[in-house]
Amino acid sequence: MIVDLRSDTITKPTKEMLAAMASAEVGDDVFGEDPTVNLLERRMAELFHQEAGLFCASGTMANQLAIKAQTQPMDEIIAHELCHIYYYETAGYAYNSGVSIKLCNGKDGLISPEDILANIQPDYDWLPKTSLVTIENTHNKAGGTCYYLSTMQAISKTCKDNSLKLHLDGARIWNAMVAKKYQPEDFGSLFDTISICFTKGMGAPVGSVLVGDAVTIKKARRIRKAFGGGMRQAGILAAACLYSMDHHYELLQKDHQRAQALGSIFEQQHWIASVSPISTNIVIFHIVDGLSPQKVLEKLSEIGIKMIQFGPQTIRCVTHLDITDEHIHYVEEKLKNLPL
Ligand SMILES: *Cc1c(COP(=O)(O)O)cnc(C)c1O
Repeated sequence: MIVDLRSDTITKPTKEMLAAMASAEVGDDVFGEDPTVNLLERRMAELFHQEAGLFCASGTMANQLAIKAQTQPMDEIIAHELCHIYYYETAGYAYNSGVSIKLCNGKDGLISPEDILANIQPDYDWLPKTSLVTIENTHNKAGGTCYYLSTMQAISKTCKDNSLKLHLDGARIWNAMVAKKYQPEDFGSLFDTISICFTKGMGAPVGSVLVGDAVTIKKARRIRKAFGGGMRQAGILAAACLYSMDHHYELLQKDHQRAQALGSIFEQQHWIASVSPISTNIVIFHIVDGLSPQKVLEKLSEIGIKMIQFGPQTIRCVTHLDITDEHIHYVEEKLKNLPL
């Protein structure tokens, strides 16, 4: 048995999802004529109480479009020091938009209104101009942590009061919604733009949507073309995203339960020093001093269990659509005799 817990991006489309893709109605989306793409964009905009949506090839593209559409060169954006936009998007903010980034270090990957206020640049000709704040929910590198609705409301107010745009990197917003039980209409309109992803726990092979007001999304659509992201019969891909909404969203709760189960199993291992609190589908644990993470990963890999190193003494696992209760049971049994 192979239990691949490296990431929730490794899921493969199910037969039913592939059937939905194969039967999708399509057209040329650069002409705005793909009914399935249009449906997905409209559905996401309505769900999050925004005016318009834009189908994107990746979450990175959706984030990059949001930055480019809402900043000018020589501006600065405020974000958490562990955020995806800073860590995993190849300095795209600088390359694509010509902006700098001011990093906050709030606990658990979350930033507060005070962090924002402390990092807004004063209005001098020799300083970059702060124009955009980005937050991440759930927070990937901090281990799937979520914002309280009240914090997002306070952040939104702080941004409005200071004429700053606010972007939500919602690559795992579905997990946050399940864990925190907030309704999309409660927080959707707090943001100027939101990037939403279907390739993580939702299990689609490709696809993200950026939502926002009509003017910003029109601008983002032009930038998407300039980035080479205008796709033609993209409805085949959008169909997978729609399918995931209808059939996979409700399964995320299970992923979270399985993450908790893994956490309990890890708590019992003598070679694991501690397990970080688990908020959603990401489990991070710290191995005891003197033991090398490479050795642990090697031993695990020999018995078909795959995880990734996430820091000097930390290892990460992520539950997802392709992980079942049998997989969790397998991990529990196999760890009993792990020669470490
Ligand atoms: C995965 C992820 C993205 C987007 O990644 P892509 O691989 O480009 O789709 C963006 N933000 C966060 C927080 C992510 O975890």
